[in-house]
Amino acid sequence: MTVRENTISIIGAGISGIICALTLAKSNECKKKTIRVYEHKNRVGGRAHAIKVNDLYVDLGAGRFSSGLHHNVKEQVKSLNLAYEKFPFTQLKRPQALHKSLKSILKNLKPLCDEHAHDSFEEFLTIYVGRNQAREMINALGYDSLSLPNITPHIAFDIIEKHPEIQGFSENAGYEWFNLKEGFSALPEKLYEQALAHGVEFHFGHELTSIEADTESPVLKLKNEKQQEVTINEGEMILTFPPTAMKKLDSGFPQDWSNYTYGSIPLFKGFFFYDAPWWQDMDLADHVVIANNPIRKLYFKDNKYVFFYTDSDYANFWRDATLKGEAHYLQTVKELMAEALKCHVSQLPDPSNHVHKHWVHGVEFSQESCPNHPKTLSHKKSHIISASDAYTSHCGWMEGGIMAGTSAANTLLERLKQRQVKAQKECELAHV
Ligand SMILES: Cc1cc2nc3c(=O)[nH]c(=O)nc-3n(C[C@H](O)[C@H](O)[C@H](O)COP(=O)(O)OP(=O)(O)OC[C@H]3O[C@@H](n4cnc5c(N)ncnc54)[C@H](O)[C@@H]3O)c2cc1C
Repeated sequence: MTVRENTISIIGAGISGIICALTLAKSNECKKKTIRVYEHKNRVGGRAHAIKVNDLYVDLGAGRFSSGLHHNVKEQVKSLNLAYEKFPFTQLKRPQALHKSLKSILKNLKPLCDEHAHDSFEEFLTIYVGRNQAREMINALGYDSLSLPNITPHIAFDIIEKHPEIQGFSENAGYEWFNLKEGFSALPEKLYEQALAHGVEFHFGHELTSIEADTESPVLKLKNEKQQEVTINEGEMILTFPPTAMKKLDSGFPQDWSNYTYGSIPLFKGFFFYDAPWWQDMDLADHVVIANNPIRKLYFKDNKYVFFYTDSDYANFWRDATLKGEAHYLQTVKELMAEALKCHVSQLPDPSNHVHKHWVHGVEFSQESCPNHPKTLSHKKSHIISASDAYTSHCGWMEGGIMAGTSAANTLLERLKQRQVKAQKECELAHV
């Protein structure tokens, strides 16, 4: 099959692809155009992926948003009438000794960041508090990406201020967070329904496998579920998936698209369901514990379930634990959970059910940090547009996905307008 009509082809049906398609479908400029979205998987939402377990929705991917930080998400949630509730995990229980003084240590260090703009956060901390306490501080913050060499003090403070579990160690302690009652994928799913109603076509099970971008007439090649090839060689092309997926294609990414380089970190979430909410007796409901062991952040959701969330090396630690078999994984969780709660392993019951997900490239970002990065990229020769939350100031967040999708659509609309003006001028000149 070959796509020949003058279409707009969007690859990727995550939040950025759907927002892009919807923005275009609602525009005057695209009224007569066919908009097609091609998606590798058989669902929309990408890294926003909720599943139902024991009649409860759990977010294997994106899980929370802040009304103070994520204005676009908040607006969409309100306008789509999505049911939301408080994401209560801003209060730490069972604090580590260092937690008591962490806020004031960080407050004193923050003004010194400018002097260490190119150091890593860990190096920066080491200079002022020594290596051991630097390590302890990062441990106490629960996000291991804070120790990566490319995380500067500025980025680290931004991470601390913009994550619910640790915002309490910053001036943002009062920010409110929410989750969607039916899971975060309810947001892209509702937008998908709207896009369908606006005439957008969706083609699932289609993987983009190669791009011939080094020409002004680019060609996209996709494989569908029946292993048939679909060629797109006309119309506008927008790619709405993250840098690691871009790198897999032979399109000279990033050098032919961007002056920036990109990185990603793995994430792991594990959820556990029990016959009875044993954690209520420990006064843990709706609280989070930051553990000084591989379980890292342990959440107790009301009387419903328990989950933990890790990044970087500990995400891979848990992937490896699952690969050693279910019994090994569950025993490791139980032992480390008991250690985190300072109780005996025999005090913890076995879960009646559990699910987990390892994301090889959970969070994607520009290595040079986000703020000045253009929100969309354009291939130097073919002008194919690439959009991702990784290019925005909200990389790693759905907010960034909305910003990326909107920006990609606006970039294309601007191009279409310019082409129309040019064509009009040529027409006028021809009649002079
Ligand atoms: C574990 C985890 C926790 C998170 N927590 C939060 C959170 O609490 N709050 C928050 O706001 N954000 C969170 N995020 C981040 C959020 O999920 C992302 O920012 C958002 O999903 C980015 O959307 P996107 O559309 O840009 O990319 P994606 O969601 O990655 O969508 C890209 C789509 O493109 C498709 N695709 C990729 N390659 C191809 C190809 N070659 N051909 C065809 N299709 C392709 C993919 O299948 C996918 O559907 C989390 C992410 C993870 C993994």
